[in-house]
Amino acid sequence: MALVLVFMGPPGAGKSTMAKKLVSDYGLAHFSTGDIIREKIASDPEFKAEFEALIKAGKLLDDERTKQLLLEKIKASDISNGFILDGYPRTVNQAKDLEEILKELGLELNGVIYFSLPEDVAVERLTQRLQCPKCGKIYNLASVRPKVDNICDDCGAKLVARSDDETESIRTRFREYEAKTKPVVEYYREQGLLYEIDVNDTVEANYKKLKDLVEKIKSKEIT
Ligand code: AMP
Repeated sequence: MALVLVFMGPPGAGKSTMAKKLVSDYGLAHFSTGDIIREKIASDPEFKAEFEALIKAGKLLDDERTKQLLLEKIKASDISNGFILDGYPRTVNQAKDLEEILKELGLELNGVIYFSLPEDVAVERLTQRLQCPKCGKIYNLASVRPKVDNICDDCGAKLVARSDDETESIRTRFREYEAKTKPVVEYYREQGLLYEIDVNDTVEANYKKLKDLVEKIKSKEIT
């Protein structure tokens, strides 16, 4: 049966890093709305002209456009083992959109995993983050350094900092998170779907906690 998980947590919590590891262990699809939006900016000049500044400033794209971009991507993907939503939903309205999307696909949400981390640690991680523009692999200058400075270990591309990982837009992203995304956490808590893990640890230790939790969610799914 397909497993559907939502990853939530403040910017810098390591959602994408954890998702990429889980995807390779469980054969899940991975939908990061942040990646989907960045891809769209890179490939569609009209979209870029309209929305690049908004995203760079750390503001959210509107719910309807975000839903359409996500749906397009889901429909073009193999989701037979299920998928992880990373960075979606970010508003209560998006959580309701997701219910519609899952209904249409005949799927159910199995769990929402909330990655908790003190804000100062998250900010520090973001300011040290580098990403491979080709394969999306994420590095951190303090903890997960590439073997050769500024070069991706896996595909040899030159690493870049994300354009929204600047102090001012980091602050805006935290404000957006507090105002719009925190209520989504409560929405799922009330539905009994929320599981929390503390990710103020190494990548390996955090991933072990995540895998133990996913195993629990999976066993609940089949009982
Ligand atoms: P992320 O890679 O998840 O940190 O997302 C980067 C940026 O993409 C966010 O700061 C938003 O501007 C935009 N974005 C990503 N996901 C969403 C979403 N679910 N709704 C609206 N905007 C989003």
